[in-house]
Amino acid sequence: MPRTKNPWVKRRNDADDWAELFGSRYVGNEGSVVPTALGAMAREQRIKRVEFLPLLVEGGLTIESDGFVMMVRCERDESDAFARSFASDETGALLPPRKRFTIAHEIAHTFFFDTSCTPPRSTVNFENKRTLHSLEKACNRAASQLLLPESLLSKFYSTSGLLNPGILREIATKAAISSPALVVRLEWLRRYPKPNGIVCSVEEARDEFIFSAVARHLGFRGLFTEVAPGESIRKLIKDQDFILNGGGRHEVRVKRAIIPGGRCRDYIIVAERTERTSRRKAYFVTIREEL
Ligand SMILES: [Zn+2]
Repeated sequence: MPRTKNPWVKRRNDADDWAELFGSRYVGNEGSVVPTALGAMAREQRIKRVEFLPLLVEGGLTIESDGFVMMVRCERDESDAFARSFASDETGALLPPRKRFTIAHEIAHTFFFDTSCTPPRSTVNFENKRTLHSLEKACNRAASQLLLPESLLSKFYSTSGLLNPGILREIATKAAISSPALVVRLEWLRRYPKPNGIVCSVEEARDEFIFSAVARHLGFRGLFTEVAPGESIRKLIKDQDFILNGGGRHEVRVKRAIIPGGRCRDYIIVAERTERTSRRKAYFVTIREEL
């Protein structure tokens, strides 16, 4: 693991390490590690209650004398149903994956508190404005560890398997996380090699598919640069036969040169639909070299 002298990066990496340990320690339903037991993690971090409320932000913590109260955003008419779901299954697997991510993110915030104090005391110095932004990123990274610890990926899946959209769907379903959250997880791998290619999630927006998250192996840094969050899949493939352009084919081959004017290599692009949990159509797309 690379070492760093930057104290903030060290803090962030420590939170990430802690989240990895914490995430893999709590066994979920029927002895399975995923979906991870968010409720048990929250209790250990002195979060006394999780409330689902119509908020302007995705979530937040309030500090009380003896711990925290977590708030998670929902629509007014979802409040009771979400509270019941989380009370009946504390992995949160009955909640939408986005809500599980928010809960994990708020748990991650408690890693930046001294929870042995009464009330818990923040250990972050907010005088530097950039710290707040970095803290949010650090909590997102730690959240993705809490939802899917890296040790689990390395135990059950080969690195090359992570370039198979069908396997990605299986992992996302088992871990009860959204497709963009899984891709972000792969982008932030620290202990386990990244799959040798590009892994993306795409979501339907009006009449086209847009990349929502991208994880790229270092060897693909200058390749397929049109593959980026917010861009249309049509920038990558114009072929009308491809499933994401309205056709029936899940797999297409394209040629690309690593350096302009250099020798072209063959790449395979594969798309598979994710679990049909959301109203919008979503797919995993992977790009790898044909060897
Ligand atoms: Zn936050």
